[in-house]
Amino acid sequence: MAKDGKYRKPERREFLVAQVVARKRISPNFVRVTIGGPALNGFRPMGYDQWFRLFLPTDKGLRLPRRSSGLWMAEYLLMPRSTRPIGRNYTVRHHRTEGTYGEGPELDIDFVLHEDAKGELGPAAKWARDAAPGDELGIFDEGITFLPPESARWRLLVGDESALPAIVGILGSTADTVRTEAYIEVRDPADAQAVEPREGTTVHWVTRGAGSQPGDAALAAVRAAVLPDGPGYAWAAGGQRLATGVRRHLVADRGFGKESVTFTGYWR
Ligand SMILES: Cc1cc2nc3c(=O)[nH]c(=O)nc-3n(C[C@H](O)[C@H](O)[C@H](O)COP(=O)(O)OP(=O)(O)OC[C@H]3O[C@@H](n4cnc5c(N)ncnc54)[C@H](O)[C@@H]3O)c2cc1C
Repeated sequence: MAKDGKYRKPERREFLVAQVVARKRISPNFVRVTIGGPALNGFRPMGYDQWFRLFLPTDKGLRLPRRSSGLWMAEYLLMPRSTRPIGRNYTVRHHRTEGTYGEGPELDIDFVLHEDAKGELGPAAKWARDAAPGDELGIFDEGITFLPPESARWRLLVGDESALPAIVGILGSTADTVRTEAYIEVRDPADAQAVEPREGTTVHWVTRGAGSQPGDAALAAVRAAVLPDGPGYAWAAGGQRLATGVRRHLVADRGFGKESVTFTGYWR
C-alpha cells in the first residue's frame, strides 16, 4: 500500500460504477445503503476508516471523470454543472467478498440523515433516504487515515455520528489489545451500534443534548476524561469544530505532539 503523507492510499484505483442492491433504516438517524455490481471486483478493502468519494447522478444520468490519475479532480471541475455528478465522501461500513443480496462483492455505507440550516436533507442524505435497487453511483477509493505510530501505547478515537462508521471500522480492524478509548457522539442513543467487546477497549456513547451544537458533547466528554499516561495516538473526525477542538485540546492541555493526532473535518 502506498503511503502518501497523512493518508495510506490504495495502490491502484479507478472510478467504479456500482448499483444499489438494498436500503435499510437501521436507526433513527441512519440509513444503510448496500451497493454491489461486477465493478466492485475492482475494489480493494483496506479496513479501518477506509473512505471513498461517492458520485451521484444528475438528472442527465451518471457521468464520471475518465482519468484516475491526479488529474481527475481538474477534469471533474471542468465538467459542465448540468452533468457534473454530486461528489461527497463516505466510509466503508462493511465489505463482503460474497454478497448477501446477490452474487459478488458488496459494500455497506451508513448515511447520517442530517439536515441543513433550513431543515432539509443534504443531497447525499436525501439520495440515501430514497435509494432504490438498481440506482447507479460512482465510487473512487481514497484509502485510510488511521495510522498510529509504533510508539503509541494507547489510542483515543473521537467523532460525531458521521465518523461512527469509521470508528467502528477501526475498532473492528485492530487485532491487538492496545488500550483504546472511543468517544462517539450521537443525536439519539438509539443510533449507537453494537461493537464487538475487546479487552482494553472502552466505547463511550455520548448523546447530544437538545439545542447543543454538534460535537460539543463529545469534546466536553474528552476534556473531562481521565486518560492514560504515556505516549498516545489520537484520531478525531466529524464536524470541523469537533475535529479541530479535540486536536487543540490534546496539544494544548494534554501534551500531545501534533504528529500524534490525525484529525479530519468530515463536514462544516
Ligand atoms: C473521509 C470522510 C468520510 C465520511 N464518512 C461518512 C459516513 O460514512 N457517513 C456519513 O453520514 N457521513 C460521512 N462523511 C461526512 C459526509 O461527507 C458529509 O456529511 C457530507 O457533507 C454529506 O453530504 P450531503 O450532500 O448530505 O450534505 P451537504 O450538501 O454536504 O450539506 C448540507 C448541509 O448539511 C450540513 N451537514 C453536512 N453533514 C452534516 C452532518 N453529518 N451533520 C450535521 N450537519 C451536516 C452542512 O453544514 C450543510 O449546511 C464523511 C466525510 C469524510 C471527509
